[in-house]
Amino acid sequence: PEVVLSAQNLVKHYPIRKGVLKRTVGQVKAVDGVTFDLHKGETLGIVGESGCGKSTLGRLLMRLEDPTSGSVAFQGEDWSGASGREMRRLRRNIQIVFQDPYTSLNPRMTVGDIVGEPFEIHPDVVPKGGRRKRVQELLDLVGLNPEHINRYPHQFSGGQRQRIGIARGIALNPSVLICDEPVSALDVSVQAQVVNLMEKLQDELGLAYVFIAHDLSVVRHISDRVGVMYLGRMAELGEEDEVYSRPTHPYTQALLSAVPVPDPTLRGKREQIVLVGDVPSPANPPSGCRFHTRCWKAQDRCTTEEPQLVLRPDGHGEHLSACHFAEARAVVETVDVSDVQ
Ligand code: SF4
Ligand code: MG
Repeated sequence: PEVVLSAQNLVKHYPIRKGVLKRTVGQVKAVDGVTFDLHKGETLGIVGESGCGKSTLGRLLMRLEDPTSGSVAFQGEDWSGASGREMRRLRRNIQIVFQDPYTSLNPRMTVGDIVGEPFEIHPDVVPKGGRRKRVQELLDLVGLNPEHINRYPHQFSGGQRQRIGIARGIALNPSVLICDEPVSALDVSVQAQVVNLMEKLQDELGLAYVFIAHDLSVVRHISDRVGVMYLGRMAELGEEDEVYSRPTHPYTQALLSAVPVPDPTLRGKREQIVLVGDVPSPANPPSGCRFHTRCWKAQDRCTTEEPQLVLRPDGHGEHLSACHFAEARAVVETVDVSDVQ
């Protein structure tokens, strides 16, 4: 399948400044060498605990921030150095939906103005006379009443507000939508509705999603492939069933073992892996494998030699994992968001 978005060794370090002179005393290594391809029409889920760099990754893909090094290419065109017109043209194809529909919508703008705002920046997409009609079509597409075009965000529920955010995100017919925790702020029942809407839109519009979330169940439901991030790097990357059914990285195994089991008869039958300690600071990631301070399988080699993200056997086939001692481990089925409707 066609690659629409490609990240090559993406790095984002933020300087830590101290004192009145704002001297740089260190670097926060938010994203520290991430590589992947996103294919047309697919969903790549990105999971990890807070502070793993997944939101920064989303902002880099969208070029809301410039990478420290590495590149992002859209349909083979590197846009790391793009500026002005070129940047606008590329940005039209990559849009973002934010986590919090309460704060990401301007309360003083009508829904019509919010959804139609991208047309002000990209006036050639829809001629001025046709914008209102186009906005109403978009509202209809995301399951909102087109008659409500003159209402304000506070007149909508949380789920409806996220639909407004999605309508704005797809207004320019992008190929890629970066979704940064798009349902985390919503009630579970509403989450399922919004996820179902996103799947419907994906099928109808051929959109590719980078779906960033900490909720493993939601990510499993929507993703074709999944990347697990830890301290700015990809620990494991593969097809949804590879990562969820045959995880080989101890970190993925631990995350999955902590997901609640839906079927009461299975409860207690699964061995939970409890990780000790917190995620270390991204300003000072551990040497070697950066997971070694919390890994129950760590050996001497792990403290000195960084494992690369390469294909490793998973008991059935092989998929990408960054562990010297990668080994498949059966995981009892995790809850799927569709079970919670
Ligand atoms: Fe654990 Fe070592 Fe594998 Fe890192 S490389 S995940 S420390 S076993
Ligand atoms: Mg899908």
